[in-house]
Amino acid sequence: LLDIQDLTKSFPGPEGPVPVLRGVTLALDRGESLALTGESGSGKSTLLHLVAGLDRADGGHILLDGEDVTGLDDRRRAALRRTKIGIVFQQFNLIPSLDVAANIAFQARLGGAVDKSRLDRLTVALGLEAHTRKYPEQLSGGQQQRVAIARTLAASPRLILADEPTGNLDEKTADEVMDQFLALVAETGAALLMVTHSPRLAGKLGRNIHLSQGRVA
Ligand code: ATP
Ligand code: MG
Repeated sequence: LLDIQDLTKSFPGPEGPVPVLRGVTLALDRGESLALTGESGSGKSTLLHLVAGLDRADGGHILLDGEDVTGLDDRRRAALRRTKIGIVFQQFNLIPSLDVAANIAFQARLGGAVDKSRLDRLTVALGLEAHTRKYPEQLSGGQQQRVAIARTLAASPRLILADEPTGNLDEKTADEVMDQFLALVAETGAALLMVTHSPRLAGKLGRNIHLSQGRVA
């Protein structure tokens, strides 16, 4: 499904470009789940941003279903985020002016594939039935992250990128939300690439890779 080959990325520093990714190579099969660990600043979020097409690599290739997406223009990269790729970040990024039901439907609507029964199932699976008419500011952090997860899954992405998706939650809530998230991902058959600092959470995923010195250790 995803094939990352020799990916490089530098950011400008005071004394010239600072390399962050120095040739990252990894592959993810359909339905596989992969935990990405590495110390702070090792380039985990940068890698996800590149795969999501939110930033551009300096070199290397990202193949999605065999298609090289590194050279696509912004419009086609945005189209991939509406259809094939789902993203869950640590910040919930909900739309404040939309209620819970509209937030959940938003991504699917953008992708042109609203499946009402799927939206309902996700709402129930994540325990949000009682909150569909509320606005994000009226929800707890755990509830907001459940909405963000429902929104991402509603669009039926084949690849889900998650960056510390429960990093803003207390440990008990984080565990509950993570278990619901992983169960739903497994049920939908999507592949998951998830950044986490927690070895315990990483252990819940199929495979674990560590970024160090800009490479897969
Ligand atoms: P954390 O675990 O703390 O989230 P991370 O592994 O996700 O860390 P990144 O956010 O990928 O790390 O950042 C890797 C390095 O690249 C850091 O040194 C960071 O300062 C730098 N960096 C990231 N984004 C930019 C940017 N847009 N401009 C300049 N430097 C950046
Ligand atoms: Mg990060």
